[in-house]
Amino acid sequence: MQTLTILGATGSIGQSTLAVIERHPERFKVYALTAHSNYKLVCKQAVACHAQHVVISDERLLKEAREYAKHIQFTGQLHFGTDALHSVAQASDVTTVMAAIVGGAGLLPTLAAVNAGKKVLLANKESLVMSGELFVQAANQSNATILPIDSEHNAIFQCLPHNFMYGDLANSGIRKILLTGSGGPFLHTDIADFSRLTPAQACAHPNWAMGQKISIDSATMMNKGLEFIEARWLFGLANDDIDIVLHPQSTIHSMVQYTDGSVLAQMGNPDMRTPIAHALAYPERIESGVPALDFSQLADFTFTTPCNQRYPNLYLALAAAKAGQSACTALNAANEIAVDGFLKGHIAFTDIARVNEHCLETHHSYVLDSIDTVLDCDKQARVIAHSTVQGLL
Ligand code: NAD
Ligand code: MG
Repeated sequence: MQTLTILGATGSIGQSTLAVIERHPERFKVYALTAHSNYKLVCKQAVACHAQHVVISDERLLKEAREYAKHIQFTGQLHFGTDALHSVAQASDVTTVMAAIVGGAGLLPTLAAVNAGKKVLLANKESLVMSGELFVQAANQSNATILPIDSEHNAIFQCLPHNFMYGDLANSGIRKILLTGSGGPFLHTDIADFSRLTPAQACAHPNWAMGQKISIDSATMMNKGLEFIEARWLFGLANDDIDIVLHPQSTIHSMVQYTDGSVLAQMGNPDMRTPIAHALAYPERIESGVPALDFSQLADFTFTTPCNQRYPNLYLALAAAKAGQSACTALNAANEIAVDGFLKGHIAFTDIARVNEHCLETHHSYVLDSIDTVLDCDKQARVIAHSTVQGLL
């Protein structure tokens, strides 16, 4: 029996996690659920899955959340603020933590779970992008197990040999890791029209239903850039070990190319319940609720390479990956501010790359040797990005 804390339970990944867990009451029980502000949904979820603890990080909601919890007869404990978030990630009753908060806000709670040596199901890619080596070191020190939830990384994990040595592709018989991406909703849109694209258009991903931030990142392909950096840390790769392949149908979720010419791909319907179920039950396999892939219904199965003009954000992320950790941390922070500005209608779709480019151009790389320096770098980049957004208004 695994006992779980789900960080970010009200989000897209959080809800898919609860949907998988619900099918297997004999395997999983829920200790705590967390949400930023959606107290109604998280309290309802807690009643349904018998969670003992709920954490709401926005402390301003204390009064109304308490009243609502009482109203729907939630009998567990309600907590507020970031300290409580860290406590439920570290609690001794908990074996497994789903890290599914979006953005940099997920860093400290995810690290709390890592430091406590939990089995961490990592959806929050931003935490690994921000803190890279420090994150990996923390996991090694505490003996935490990190299992990838991001569909590409979960696919790569499934295609790696059982005796894969972290960072050692040559001795694992591997030539390349092939990271696939769909190209998002604007794969065929005229680039001249990009400045007029709306948040609703950008959030309408052709294959995946996801939270707003990752949907915009998928449209700009910053998501693939963040995933490139994420893959480097998860598997100990060099930049040259990874090729990015556009595969618009999202049937293949990524591949491993071996030195003997074999290519192993993980395929399935694009539904996050598959990687979630895989990581939850690993090394066993359980029912996820995802329908079987029907090959007779696959109209197309195509591959191309991404282009620089269409996806400048992808190339900024690759440049940051070359420049080093502080550039990755700063770019991740600037991107969050830029995406937020676009979602609020303050800046144009094309301005996201402007904000991110300005951040990288003005960034001087330095060593991030502690989580405090990571947080500091993140904070500074947010200030610069905010003023760039202001300048564009
Ligand atoms: P979402 O926006 O749907 O949900 C985000 C969750 O985080 C919510 O529960 C919200 O309450 C919580 N949250 C937001 N801000 C917070 C804050 N400041 N403090 C505490 N909690 C906060 O996001 P999502 O699509 O579920 O994505 C979650 C993470 O998983 C992201 O890092 C994303 O990149 C990654 N991911 C998502 C998908 C997907 O299909 N949705 C796929 C791969 C990876
Ligand atoms: Mg992904």
